[in-house]
Amino acid sequence: EEMEEKINMAVVKYKVVFLGDESVGKSSLIRRFMHNEFDTAYTPTIGIDFLSKTMYFDDITVRLQLWDTAGQMRFRSLIPSYIRDAAATIIVYDVTNRSSFLNIAKWIKEVREERGTDVIIVLVANKCDLLKKRQVSIEEVDAKARELGFMFIKTSAKDGLNTKPLFRKVAMALSGMEPYLSAEQEDKVDVNLESSGNPLGWGGVVWAVAHQDGE
Ligand code: GDP
Repeated sequence: EEMEEKINMAVVKYKVVFLGDESVGKSSLIRRFMHNEFDTAYTPTIGIDFLSKTMYFDDITVRLQLWDTAGQMRFRSLIPSYIRDAAATIIVYDVTNRSSFLNIAKWIKEVREERGTDVIIVLVANKCDLLKKRQVSIEEVDAKARELGFMFIKTSAKDGLNTKPLFRKVAMALSGMEPYLSAEQEDKVDVNLESSGNPLGWGGVVWAVAHQDGE
């Protein structure tokens, strides 16, 4: 019983809300991470779903409560109330859909309205497997993320590219295991996003994770 208590004490829970336009791959990223599955059939999220995932680190156990929001207009009015008590928001866009990239600004605005700057924001470029259909260059989003001072990561829910590192990074940033870098700090670090591997290792910079793990 005592043991159980210790385990419970070490668990820290965080609410993480997924945002982004319809069909950018929010549900797919969560499904890939939770069940290691991918489905090409598109089943729109109805309203809001949430799933819990416990992640174990050396000194701490983190439980992420992942909230998947629906992109459809009729559910939009629900979203602010979910953002309100989120510790992190993950804003996803689809690299093959330019308007989903341009709409990032609108999602950020929504987060800022509810939370000001007191929240972690992660920018996710999903569907990176669809190279030929790409409508947004990495340079462009890289510049944007730097300007805004957000973490940025390239993923493919289909291939599983960076899906684990994404959630791991979020958990680590939330629990303070890694400094959350401001744009100013990032400027001092030279990381080539297009190179393979992660020269800085796990303890390094969030920027370096983009090509870390192709799994
Ligand atoms: P959501 O509305 O943002 O939750 O988007 P979904 O997760 O439902 O995905 C929308 C569509 O995009 C589905 O047909 C998925 O199979 C597809 N999809 C999602 N992620 C990827 C990806 O990384 N690569 C490719 N090629 N398709 C994806």
